[in-house]
Amino acid sequence: MTTSARPDQAGSRLAELSTPALVVDHGPLERNLATMAGVWPGRRLRPHVKAHKTSGLARRQAELGHTGFTCATIREVEVMAAAGLGEDLLLANEVLDMHRLGAVVKSGARVTVAVDSDAVLAAAVAGGVREVLIDVNVGLPRCGCDPADAGRLADAARAAGLEVRGVMGYEGHLMMVADPVERAGKTAGAMAMLQQAHADVGGDILSGGGTGTWRTNAVVTELQAGSYALMDTAYAAQDDVPFEQALTVLATVVSVNSSKGYAVADAGLKAFGMDHGNPTLPGAAVWYCSDEHTIFSMEDGAPLPAVGDRVRLVPAHIDPTCAMHERMWVVDGNDVVVDCWPVDMRGW
Ligand code: PLP
Ligand code: MN
Repeated sequence: MTTSARPDQAGSRLAELSTPALVVDHGPLERNLATMAGVWPGRRLRPHVKAHKTSGLARRQAELGHTGFTCATIREVEVMAAAGLGEDLLLANEVLDMHRLGAVVKSGARVTVAVDSDAVLAAAVAGGVREVLIDVNVGLPRCGCDPADAGRLADAARAAGLEVRGVMGYEGHLMMVADPVERAGKTAGAMAMLQQAHADVGGDILSGGGTGTWRTNAVVTELQAGSYALMDTAYAAQDDVPFEQALTVLATVVSVNSSKGYAVADAGLKAFGMDHGNPTLPGAAVWYCSDEHTIFSMEDGAPLPAVGDRVRLVPAHIDPTCAMHERMWVVDGNDVVVDCWPVDMRGW
């Protein structure tokens, strides 16, 4: 049986961690970061921190040259700035609580915010934000102005004294198109809308894209990929997405039903983002998750684990999974803890 210590120091063993625990494999993480940096080097990549919500990991991305970041929430901007990673933060989302961003700007960080309406623009001006991107709808039914309205909005922003750095358009509806050729064609169509808007808006930046279009988006000046660093099983299903699973949820087997042929681990749907499906366990079939449990059987006649054994479940969707945990443990190839990063951007 394992202990339930919560060691805060490097050098602990994986087996000593209290479960459920978020575990990052150092080797795969570093290979993912290197693979992406090879194709989208330096400022060509604007890593999205919403995927991991962890300034410790963002610092590693900055060390590799990606010193501008994408954020989804005001809190992510605040924490990144406070962590000294505020060289160029893009809040790629519409917000109205702009005075909080104005305070971050005053603290010396560079903050650019997405705007898609006059109301959000007015809030930016009133809140003390000075730089914007015009957010253009490129087909995802979410935020973003009509491409034809982008030029007018940019003029209004400049008239209000704001710096318009360019456009952003997120083709999120295309990330999971299975066929890479079809995905590339659809991405080109979405990006044509962004280019059309950019012709009216001007500025140096066309921002967009993600892990699913890292090879198919040939238009953006900066890619907003986030999931690539830790990966999940939804993205792993894409043929042209080569990144490795670097994040698992460590769980302890707490009950085994040998007659019915299943085991129960102590991490459930409160430990996994489930909107892309169940977590997976290599060599096992996951039956279902309840609040605090995952129930699974073994494949190919393999024996069931024993009570007290540890399993490492692979989440189907990285972003909501990370947001549920307070810290992530970084382990080396020998299951020794080499770092512990607080998931310090969680919450709002
Ligand atoms: N940009 C925006 C605005 C997003 O909302 C997302 C994810 O949802 C991304 C980029 C890309 O993230 P990922 O790398 O996870 O595909
Ligand atoms: Mn996601």
